[in-house]
Amino acid sequence: YRFSRRPDIGEGIRVSFEFFPPKSDDMETRLWDTVTRLQALQPHFVSVTYGAGGSTRERTARTVARILHQTDLAPAAHLTCIDASRDEVDEVIRQFVELGVTRFVALRGDPATGAGTGYQPHPGGYANGADMVGALRRQGDFDISVSAYPEKHPESPDFATDIDMLKRKVDNGATRAITQFFFDNDIYERYVERVRRAGIYIPIVPGILPVHNIVQVANFSARAGAHVPAWLRERFAGLESDPQTHALVAAAVAAEQVHDLVERGVGDFHFYTMNRADLAFAVCHMIGIRPRSNGGEKSAAA
Ligand code: FAD
Repeated sequence: YRFSRRPDIGEGIRVSFEFFPPKSDDMETRLWDTVTRLQALQPHFVSVTYGAGGSTRERTARTVARILHQTDLAPAAHLTCIDASRDEVDEVIRQFVELGVTRFVALRGDPATGAGTGYQPHPGGYANGADMVGALRRQGDFDISVSAYPEKHPESPDFATDIDMLKRKVDNGATRAITQFFFDNDIYERYVERVRRAGIYIPIVPGILPVHNIVQVANFSARAGAHVPAWLRERFAGLESDPQTHALVAAAVAAEQVHDLVERGVGDFHFYTMNRADLAFAVCHMIGIRPRSNGGEKSAAA
């Protein structure tokens, strides 16, 4: 594999960025620095996650509201149904709509105890991502993203069951799917082929995880339904206490992955930023996404 030398790279490529709601003032400052830097790249949208077990409901809403009020970015609110009744979920949707939110990422979610620790639908709640899409569609004509798992969700017994869930989400009105992160582009390509064979035609946007910390990613990946290939671990081997080289390797790895996807015809990318701008910004630069002077700020950050 070699980097593309196509002069038109960047043309027609769209990116989106994912953030998580900050827990402290320091984290808030870091997130806002990140948002300010990345908004100059004019992403298609940015999304804000909803903590495990619905734990960040207020913080997610505050972060989405700040993005709406202080930038020209289009924020998408993640929303899960875990541990909540239908009325509670419907009320959260109403509150987001009142804020002016028109984009959502509809999810089932994981228990507060962590992924893979025995999901039980709330007895009076929505059961899964497909139900959540339906709940949103009943309240408005929203842009609704859903999850997709190129290596299948760990709780799905097989790919057929997994893709059937995606089909139900599409039937209920999902606009696009964003994938769990993956590092092997062949796996993504095979997955998209399976999905198309199942008669699903919405965009399957690859979720790109620039590796800020290989140890954390390796620990988290199995529960997330993604695997870290041996060649990737090898690239980061021995860099645990050398953050500068780790970051340079991470930029090279992510740029190589994204470039290869562009060569395969992919034009939409979703970046899991971990509230850090540097790696996502560098990779965007490599695929020709450059800052525009009208960075999109409505006012100086408060
Ligand atoms: P679904 O797509 O509804 O289900 C996944 C699979 O689990 C199904 O294919 C099915 O086989 C099985 N399953 C579903 N429901 C049941 C059931 N009732 N009984 C038995 N099996 C069932 N998590 C958060 O907490 N907050 C976030 O903001 C968040 N954002 C995410 C964004 C993206 C793009 C992705 C890919 C994931 C995100 N997650 C988030 C993680 C997600 O919540 C977990 O992966 C969770 O385990 C599954 O949620 P889902 O919506 O993908 O599930």
